[in-house]
Amino acid sequence: MSEFDFDLFVIGAGSGGVRASRMAAGFGARVGVAEDLYLGGTCVNVGCVPKKLFAYSAHFSEDLEDAKGYGWNIPDSTFDWPTLVANKNQEIARLNGIYRNMLKASGVTVLDDRARFIDSHTLQVGEQKVTAERILIATGGWPHIPDFPGNEHVISSNEVFHLKTLPKRTLVVGGGYIAIEFASIFHGMQREVSLLYRGDLFLRGFDTSLREHMAATIRQKGIDLRFNADVKKIDRQADGSLHVTLQDDSVLETDLVLYATGRKPNLKGLGLENTQVTLDDKGFIAVNQDYETQDPSVYAIGDVTDTLKLTPVALAEGMALARRLYKPEQYVPVDYRDIPTAVFCIPNIGTLGLTEEQAREEGYTLSIFESRFRPMRNTVAGRGEESLMKMIVDKNTDRVLGVHMIGPEAGEIIQGMAVALKAGATKAMFDATLGIHPTAAEEFVTMRTPTRTD
Ligand code: FAD
Ligand code: NDP
Repeated sequence: MSEFDFDLFVIGAGSGGVRASRMAAGFGARVGVAEDLYLGGTCVNVGCVPKKLFAYSAHFSEDLEDAKGYGWNIPDSTFDWPTLVANKNQEIARLNGIYRNMLKASGVTVLDDRARFIDSHTLQVGEQKVTAERILIATGGWPHIPDFPGNEHVISSNEVFHLKTLPKRTLVVGGGYIAIEFASIFHGMQREVSLLYRGDLFLRGFDTSLREHMAATIRQKGIDLRFNADVKKIDRQADGSLHVTLQDDSVLETDLVLYATGRKPNLKGLGLENTQVTLDDKGFIAVNQDYETQDPSVYAIGDVTDTLKLTPVALAEGMALARRLYKPEQYVPVDYRDIPTAVFCIPNIGTLGLTEEQAREEGYTLSIFESRFRPMRNTVAGRGEESLMKMIVDKNTDRVLGVHMIGPEAGEIIQGMAVALKAGATKAMFDATLGIHPTAAEEFVTMRTPTRTD
């Protein structure tokens, strides 16, 4: 009998922690998990899932408008925020229950409390002490709001899902995934939206064609998009509205300010000082390629480390670690190349592989295929908005290095492209593939002439 209560104890029942616990228990390990807030973690409770539900809701305003062109005579409709929030809460409660049952069915012991290290093998979890041969930190991230006068008046993505009302005017600060998604969501809910980004062009790290096209699309929709703009201070007025002074001393009046300026690793009160775990220079838990920390009995995966902050990545890391520790014959390391991702703004951004800029930096000689067109659905609807599709091809080998898209359902379309790139698809293979007509996706297999070549 082992000297420890558990073979593996996992801190955090989010995407990575739940996957690692269930897999390890399935391989016969005695596993416990501590979670003090919500089963399923960020993604299920204050991330991917409620965000996608909100995005579905936001889509309806354009759908209702577009329906007129298709002959539908729809009486004036109104949007009710509390109904959406209540229905979303019900769905999340259902998912929380499913997570609890899944963990139970896998034989994982769930402790609904916060965990803190006492030493490398011992945790204080609420009132009880537990010991484990191995401990996995999967505590994820937490929104980061910079310091400035009046920052107590702003909310983060944690609060946005529980607002009692959604006021008429909203300001979003940031230029990454969450900022763009919520600017779209608020706009879809017929709010007046301003979006501030501190640099020249938002979505840093995405392909420049996408970034420029998205900026134009958002502006065309009527979102007040401002680059090279940042907040200096915020004052609340007697009527409850917010008086936002920008760095150039101009003033913006709004009712709600959402900060989406990145997330920091969630290490609060974790007691890392009682272990040999170290942090990297960005403040994430330092791990090697096997998710081992500097403490031989402690591991870390997901957003608490400097990895790509996406649920499928945390899931893959949880699965790889459980296999390596408890089923080594099935171990396959995570392949971090060509990870597809979508920004669920309206319309979606879907992206995969190298951007044109990255491919050039890596020294490839390129053929670029780029297509801008009005999706068929927009024609009769009278919507001028164009989609963008772009492929980055290595001119020497014909291999497709990157696929990028802005347009309806880009997230769904790029998922299929990811399989093709994983299989090493060449442009000739795309050309040899028949399209599905009429779809937008068929554009990816019908782009014959490069827009430019090196
Ligand atoms: P988390 O899911 O954050 O789980 C960590 C868990 O640990 C939490 O439940 C926390 O309560 C718990 N915890 C922390 N400290 C302790 C402690 N000391 N004791 C006990 N429990 C503790 N990714 C996508 O792929 N697609 C999307 O569409 C998407 N949308 C997002 C939208 C938003 C608004 C946000 C914020 C994120 C989104 N993400 C999305 C990112 C995704 O949610 C994260 O990458 C993913 O949840 C990371 O999983 P994780 O297991 O590392 O951490
Ligand atoms: P991101 O890192 O994507 O973006 C943060 C943004 O805030 C950047 O534009 C950054 O600017 C800006 N910023 C950072 N610090 C400041 C500051 N002090 N003042 C003003 N602006 C600042 O973070 P998010 O919060 O949007 O999301 C966190 C992560 O969650 C994402 O990176 C993504 O991995 C994940 N996520 C995934 C989603 C999906 O898959 N659809 C959806 C939502 C989140 P700069 O570029 O100049 O540094």
